[in-house]
Amino acid sequence: MILFKQPEALKQFLSSQKAQNVSIGFVPTMGALHQGHLSLIAEAKLSCDLVVSSIFVNPTQFNNPKDLETYPRTIQSDIIKLMSSGCDVLFHPEETAMYAQGEEKLSSKDYGYFIDVLEGSSRPGHFDGVITILTKLFNMVDPNQVYFGQKDYQQCMVVETLIQRHFPAIIFNRCAIVREEDGLAMSSRNTRLSVEERKKAPEIYSALQLVQTEWTQDGWELAMEKAKGVLSKAPFELEYLEVCKTDTLEPLTSFQKSVVVLVAVNLGKTRLLDNLIIN
Ligand code: AMP
Repeated sequence: MILFKQPEALKQFLSSQKAQNVSIGFVPTMGALHQGHLSLIAEAKLSCDLVVSSIFVNPTQFNNPKDLETYPRTIQSDIIKLMSSGCDVLFHPEETAMYAQGEEKLSSKDYGYFIDVLEGSSRPGHFDGVITILTKLFNMVDPNQVYFGQKDYQQCMVVETLIQRHFPAIIFNRCAIVREEDGLAMSSRNTRLSVEERKKAPEIYSALQLVQTEWTQDGWELAMEKAKGVLSKAPFELEYLEVCKTDTLEPLTSFQKSVVVLVAVNLGKTRLLDNLIIN
């Protein structure tokens, strides 16, 4: 695996590869890698000649400075994991290589209904930070295909819109959520859970499954209320649990067969996300 820290060197190397018709698959991450991230690398390896990953804890997508400060950073073990997963290139820039001082974020405000709800309203400015960094990374890497996790469902919608508008040649891939054996969605933030919190955390997925098993014409509203009940009890602090239309994230006014249930919950000091598509 080749490690680049400078955008110019990365660009030069990748454009020479593209000139030889090498196809590039790109997996952007913020590091503290787990099997969820590595599943994206594996997916990219199936259809691209060269797999590029990036590790950059992007400050502009954090609306909470404490969250940015305490975000896990494990670059040494990340490098080992990437090498054993067959990643070809790692881009791990310093912040100064990615942002000029006082630089403004790009705006996602006209992206559609979905931009202002759920994560959009809970974390003001978050998606502006996401599109700002991805625009830079896509320009530097110039990938043929990109790989994102359904774990961040709303982010996938944002990235798809960014690609449709500004990078139409890129193929977008949304990859399945990788879970621990007990159902907890893998996340870099799981490492922050105490032993007790970790034991409770699988209830998040159980609540989503409860909605799924009780998803019927007559029972759907009750199913949502039951799931909210589970995650409204200590030690959980529920931020939202919403059942939405899969393509717009609009709330349901009547029963629909194909929906997505999205949840954000605080467990102690850790904010966890999960979702489940019901068909
Ligand atoms: P992050 O490092 O949290 O920014 O995540 C980088 C990429 O990995 C994003 O596309 C995430 O959606 C994806 N990802 C994170 N957790 C998982 C998971 N458990 N399963 C699949 N993909 C994931």
